[in-house]
Amino acid sequence: MKLINNINNSNNTEVDFETYLKNYPDKNGFFGKYGGSFIPEELQAAMNEITHAYHTIGRSARFIAELSRIRREFQGRPTPISPLERLSDFLGGNVRLYAKREDLNHTGAHKLNHCMGEALLAKFMGKKKIIAETGAGQHGVALATAAAYFGLECDIYMGAVDIKKQAPNVSRMKVLGARVVEVNDGLKTLKEAVDAAFLAYMREYKNAIYCIGSVVGPHPFPMMVRDFQSIVGIEAREQFTTMTGKLPDAVVACVGGGSNAMGMFSGFLDAPVDIYGVEPLGRGPALGDHAASLKYGTEGIMHGFNSIMLKDENGEPAPVYSVASGLDYPSSGPEHAFLRDCGRVKYDVIGDEETIDAFFTLSRLEGIIPAIESSHAVAYAMKLAKTMEKGSILINLSGRGDKDMDYVLEKYGMR
Ligand SMILES: *Cc1c(COP(=O)(O)O)cnc(C)c1O
Repeated sequence: MKLINNINNSNNTEVDFETYLKNYPDKNGFFGKYGGSFIPEELQAAMNEITHAYHTIGRSARFIAELSRIRREFQGRPTPISPLERLSDFLGGNVRLYAKREDLNHTGAHKLNHCMGEALLAKFMGKKKIIAETGAGQHGVALATAAAYFGLECDIYMGAVDIKKQAPNVSRMKVLGARVVEVNDGLKTLKEAVDAAFLAYMREYKNAIYCIGSVVGPHPFPMMVRDFQSIVGIEAREQFTTMTGKLPDAVVACVGGGSNAMGMFSGFLDAPVDIYGVEPLGRGPALGDHAASLKYGTEGIMHGFNSIMLKDENGEPAPVYSVASGLDYPSSGPEHAFLRDCGRVKYDVIGDEETIDAFFTLSRLEGIIPAIESSHAVAYAMKLAKTMEKGSILINLSGRGDKDMDYVLEKYGMR
């Protein structure tokens, strides 16, 4: 499939999606004008080392064979696709919905897909430690799991405020043997944790590697995390065509940083399939009430990469909000910004209320309690189904909702 890429309405480039994954990003980590690496020089040397290792070790037969063994024997992959029969009937019956069950991946979400890849690369590179920050704690738990599996040390930087809020995930990380490093600078949340983790990495990069939790950050992370997550799209395409004899008409995934979405989308970019990324509208379109960067943001550089971001009046990353803590990030991966601009993926929004409705609807009709993040994708698919005469929609169910249970019941009550 060929598309004319009309970025900035200036230089028209033709994007060939048959060969897209080989050609994007370019060797400097750019997807069109987005991506790249905007970091201090000391850190650039460390990033270059990771890029080099990924291109050599990460693409070697030995690495690939070991990762696929781990996916099978430890993660429990492939995860199934479930036809959502009762939900489809409830919506009228002509459009059939399906879920790719990343909630059944070990630890209950897709994040382990890239954490196992990153930690395996660390191991092959001879590193002894992996370093990361975490906000809600989901990335920290997945990385601590990978560290335990490979026998690596693991330092997770976390704001003091988040440590209080996310006690169960802090306990999980500690049980798994990770060190949770409390960050007491500034507002004591994710932003300060990112800064502290970067500083630690600069000090320790000979011995350690930094593991980013989504398709964000400086090159090579948006590419590497996408590639590690692409297992989702590869499995889904094969399973869906085996199950139904056809491709889905549409694919839907939620977008925070965008890793579960890129994993799924990468399997369908070259196919005649409509692709939808769903951002959190939170309480509404006013700045501060949502985290829909691709819809309301503007181009800018943060956390080491160029993308679309939500900015405050000083041009700094704006405060963001979503009922789903995994989606409240003021930017999105550079590849999403690129796919938006060239029109290959349509990005839209879903607010808190519709999300909570979808959370209960999927639970009641299918016996699957979705993560609140994933509930955004479910809600969008339910809306999309009503606009289609017939066909099929494949939802990436990025994670399970057990972690959200107390919060949902406390804030919204039983429905
Ligand atoms: C972290 C998380 C997300 C958001 O991250 P992406 O990088 O946008 O995929 C979505 N769903 C679940 C279950 C998560 O834990």
